[in-house]
Amino acid sequence: MLLIASTLAVIGLVVFQLKWMRHSRELSEEIFNQRVCMAVCATVEDYGGGMLCTKTAAQPSCHAGVAVANSAAELASDTAFHNSLRQSLDFYQIGLDYSLSFSADSVQESCSKGIYQCQVPLPVDSTAQTAFMQVNFPDRQTFMLEKMHFMVTATILILLFTAAVLLFANWSLLKQKRLLETNMDFFNNMAHEFRTPLTNVGLAVNMLGKKHQELKDNPFVDIVRRENARLQAQVERVLHLARVENGDYSLQKERLNLKSLLASVCHDMAMQIERSGATVSLDEAPDSYEVYGDRLHLSNVFRNLLDNALKYACDKPHIRISAQEHRRGILIQVQDNGVGIPASQCGLIFEKFQRAGQGDLHEQKGFGLGLAYVKSMVELHKGFVRVFSEVNKGSRFEVYLPFI
Ligand code: ADP
Repeated sequence: MLLIASTLAVIGLVVFQLKWMRHSRELSEEIFNQRVCMAVCATVEDYGGGMLCTKTAAQPSCHAGVAVANSAAELASDTAFHNSLRQSLDFYQIGLDYSLSFSADSVQESCSKGIYQCQVPLPVDSTAQTAFMQVNFPDRQTFMLEKMHFMVTATILILLFTAAVLLFANWSLLKQKRLLETNMDFFNNMAHEFRTPLTNVGLAVNMLGKKHQELKDNPFVDIVRRENARLQAQVERVLHLARVENGDYSLQKERLNLKSLLASVCHDMAMQIERSGATVSLDEAPDSYEVYGDRLHLSNVFRNLLDNALKYACDKPHIRISAQEHRRGILIQVQDNGVGIPASQCGLIFEKFQRAGQGDLHEQKGFGLGLAYVKSMVELHKGFVRVFSEVNKGSRFEVYLPFI
């Protein structure tokens, strides 16, 4: 896409430059014509002594008032006339060789062919009263091209440079893209490989608790279970996100009552809430608040938000979950009194691998994937998620889901 856009931009630039060069060539020719016209008219006026000379931009047209020579041949070989013409041409900076010719009739193609003509009252043959004198510049084209030489070279160089820069930018972008894709593939494959061992560890820990009753409440076993569950959740997030990005997901949509969905999320996380000493208040939502969505993924969305509210809490965490009607849908709010997010980073935290604060120096560990997952899932349900936050005061995450 970018390659096509930049190629079109270069083509546009070339066309524009060519038009511009053509225009400036026309302008140069016009100036040249005007100068020749003035030089020729000035010479004829000088030579004829007070002749009347009119000129147009396109073609000089000089009307001589008195006869200046008896014949065309006489004028053509008159050194004084040639000197005067040469002087005038030099004065107008036209150092080109010229030739003179005379005809009884006017030459139609004049300036464009490098022929400039003047009407002079000379009998070229026995019947004609006046003749047309033509000043011809055989090297006119070369002269014009030489004048434009610098501009043409500079334009070609600039165009080549622009094209080279664009090509290089495209090439490095493609390289970066390929590298990113390889990294993502590796990351996703690794997450996939982790899945089975983590599931096995979880099963083994549960079996251990069942078979050896004395280990059921053992704090070390509890740590293994908890950390294993955390890793499993991260792996699932990576795999879900990869599937969403590849368009390879399927939502099992059903009619969902929001009140019971939120209650079940709070219930599932009761142990974690208790451990962190937080108070979570869940405002009663009307039974009519129903959405059409995937139970597993929507539960994960609110689990992520609640999990973050607990993770980024301050001393006495207080979390409030409420829901209200909003533009033919439901707006669910998860409000905490935690560390908050700097305003400059509120827009970034929904991107993959983005974490507010100082990256790896973050007190709480994480991959920056939770909110990316939340965003993609909510959007797949035709909703949106947004955050309002103030550092050290807390954050409010809002999820909008349309009614059925
Ligand atoms: P993780 O928690 O793994 O870093 P998330 O995508 O869930 O990834 O969150 C991204 C970032 O957003 C977090 O690193 C954190 O800085 C910020 N964040 C998310 N939720 C909250 C919250 N409730 N309070 C303060 N900061 C938050």
